[in-house]
Amino acid sequence: MRIAATASDLRREIAGLPRPLVLVPTMGALHEGHLALVRRARQAAGPQGSVAMSIFVNPIQFDRPGDLAAYPQPLEDDLEKCRQTGVDLVFTPETGAMYFPDRSITVTESLLSTHLCGATRPGHFDGVCTVVLKLFNLFQPDSAVFGEKDVQQLAILRRMVRDLDVPVEIIGHPTVREPDGLAMSSRNVRLSPGHRADAPRIRRALEGARSLLQFGERAAAPYLAAARKHLEDSPFLRIDYLELVDAETLQPVGHIKKPAVLATAVFYGDVRLIDHVSLLP
Ligand code: AMP
Repeated sequence: MRIAATASDLRREIAGLPRPLVLVPTMGALHEGHLALVRRARQAAGPQGSVAMSIFVNPIQFDRPGDLAAYPQPLEDDLEKCRQTGVDLVFTPETGAMYFPDRSITVTESLLSTHLCGATRPGHFDGVCTVVLKLFNLFQPDSAVFGEKDVQQLAILRRMVRDLDVPVEIIGHPTVREPDGLAMSSRNVRLSPGHRADAPRIRRALEGARSLLQFGERAAAPYLAAARKHLEDSPFLRIDYLELVDAETLQPVGHIKKPAVLATAVFYGDVRLIDHVSLLP
């Protein structure tokens, strides 16, 4: 496995890699969810192609300095997991290798980012789009794999490559969960034992609301009310948002006529977790 830390090292390494090249962008603190993306990337690359991962805790997508400072960065463990999962090349830049101190260009998305995480994390998706476009320019991959767990991120990145004619195929991969249903996240390790034990309710709240579909319910309000009640039964969590949006535009809907998404973000202390369910009428 090759490791590069600067753009020039990366270019040299990439020149020697067989195509197709499939990229898995991450912020490290790797768990089974990330490794599932690597396996999906290998499937797309084929045995002769190449799988690359970037590990970069992107400062410009953090809206809370404390969240950035507390973000786990077990780099040696991460590299070992990459080796074991068959990654060919890992890019581990320092912030200074990614951003000029006087950088002044940012990629902005102005529709899909207006609700959900975009509403409560100002600037977050500008940071995501900017870093992903930079990674696409650096790696020039044929395709890139992203998790459906970050459903808004995935929709925005699909829109970015469409609107900016970026020649990279975006591949989505389903959310990987702990046995108790909690979506895997690098932030889960920061939960206290009590909060960790409570957190599977996020999934249960969303799934419980989704069961209204089988009774033919089409109004959004009962879904939101059912999920809110289940979440608010927790003595620990605070809801950041709970919204029912159109799956394509990510704008709130009053009635479910097309595929929709019921999505939430909650805080356990200062740890913020997200999850969603798809609603297919
Ligand atoms: P992160 O390191 O959290 O920025 O995530 C890097 C990539 O892994 C993103 O495409 C995420 O959507 C994806 N990812 C994170 N957690 C999961 C999960 N539990 N299941 C599937 N993909 C995930």
